[in-house]
Amino acid sequence: MTLRETIEQDPQGLIARAYAFAKQAHKGQKRKTGEPYFVHAEATGEILLLWRLDEETVAAGILHDTVEDTEVTLDTIRKEFGGRVAFLVDGVTKLGRIKYRGAEAQSENMRKLIMAITKDLRVIFIKLADRLHNMNTLDALPPAKQKRIALETDEIYALLAYRLGMKNVSGELHDIAFHYLEPEKETWVKKLIAEKYDERLSYVTAAQPLIEAELKKQNLRPIAIEFRAKRYSSLYRKLERHNMDIESIFDLVAMRIIVETAEQCYGVLGVVHSLWPPLPGRIKDYIAVPKHNGYRSLHTTVRGPENKVLEIQIRTIEMHEENEYGIPAHIFYKEKPRLRHEKLILTNPDHEFWWVKRLREWQEKYGENSDPEILLHEMKVDLFKNRIFVITPRGDAIELPAGATPVDFAYEIHGALGDSCVAAKVNSRFVSLDSELHSGDFVEILTQKNKKPSEDWLKFVKTSKSRAHIKAALKSKKQILDTKRPKKKK
Ligand code: MN
Repeated sequence: MTLRETIEQDPQGLIARAYAFAKQAHKGQKRKTGEPYFVHAEATGEILLLWRLDEETVAAGILHDTVEDTEVTLDTIRKEFGGRVAFLVDGVTKLGRIKYRGAEAQSENMRKLIMAITKDLRVIFIKLADRLHNMNTLDALPPAKQKRIALETDEIYALLAYRLGMKNVSGELHDIAFHYLEPEKETWVKKLIAEKYDERLSYVTAAQPLIEAELKKQNLRPIAIEFRAKRYSSLYRKLERHNMDIESIFDLVAMRIIVETAEQCYGVLGVVHSLWPPLPGRIKDYIAVPKHNGYRSLHTTVRGPENKVLEIQIRTIEMHEENEYGIPAHIFYKEKPRLRHEKLILTNPDHEFWWVKRLREWQEKYGENSDPEILLHEMKVDLFKNRIFVITPRGDAIELPAGATPVDFAYEIHGALGDSCVAAKVNSRFVSLDSELHSGDFVEILTQKNKKPSEDWLKFVKTSKSRAHIKAALKSKKQILDTKRPKKKK
């Protein structure tokens, strides 16, 4: 449903009232693009609605710039729309004051960001919607400001969106940022694939009726067959990993087949493989084993018509929604009964989204109309549960698993730093090397030349990176001793 339809359906509702209020408040204001300012407020609300967020979030999204940019006070918002909408607007306003300028001295900002996340995730959804619209209209700003906002988007918001399972949003943010941050690379990659792309698209399009006819024979009727072009920024990164060899990229344009159930996904895969032989080692079952951020789909690469390579993705409409919109879709997409296969990811404790299952149990317990704020509160507690962010003396935020120690921190920064570390300070106080770090801690590592790691460290380090470094260093220490010993004998 669009914003307009929502308002028509409930003209006295929270969203309709926020709409009228914000329109009045921003009256006469213009954006840098020359449009009325309200266009931005409206677009933000529209995006949140598309992500299926709750009424309060959409209303707060429409109102998100009123306190910062108009005469309206937070008290007025509270009186008119209630405490929770006011809380959300305040959160977005505060977040908006953070100016990320890359690595230097941004620790305070990281703290604010972490705090906003842990208070109520909906603040982040509003900020992402706000940012998505701003990125799409970034052209109107002066170049220095474009760069700063693009960097912040690339290094913080796109990653947050990815972590929230909003793959599509994340990809779009990265791509727009790429345009402003690395214009030469973007031009280069666009030129490289210009011809290839059209060629690929027409090839994939021609393959569509062939597969459709074959599916029909098996009584499989896809809801949709669509084509997905690889984003420029992700293509560039992928090329970097493949020696810039475009011939080794199979998914420049991929065919996407969307069906009703998971069983049908596997059925479609069988039909595809009977029609075109699969390339060995390229079949990926992200339904049985979803990606870390919750992404689910079947992928295969086949030798299609004319023996050419073709990547095909197969997924249900629900998976598709979740892949595109992430967590909001998990929580608010209730129109269809949950499918059995979904339990696969939700009952897997290794999976990052397992807490969604808990939320749903909670929801069942307290009914369909359970308070979204409390639900999201539960959710945020678990979202960053298994990872922490600590700050380096330079102000960089380092992500580590929960329970990580100063030694893990040191190895995360550099192998040599880990190897030579002798002591650590957390928030300016000396701590033991095995002490547990917490989000927001400032960590400093003290080193000593020619120091080697201790075998004891293996008992408390949390990351595989630390373990690998320690083992390698111990091994070389042993070798040095071995080669030294005979000499001593002489
Ligand atoms: Mn805004």
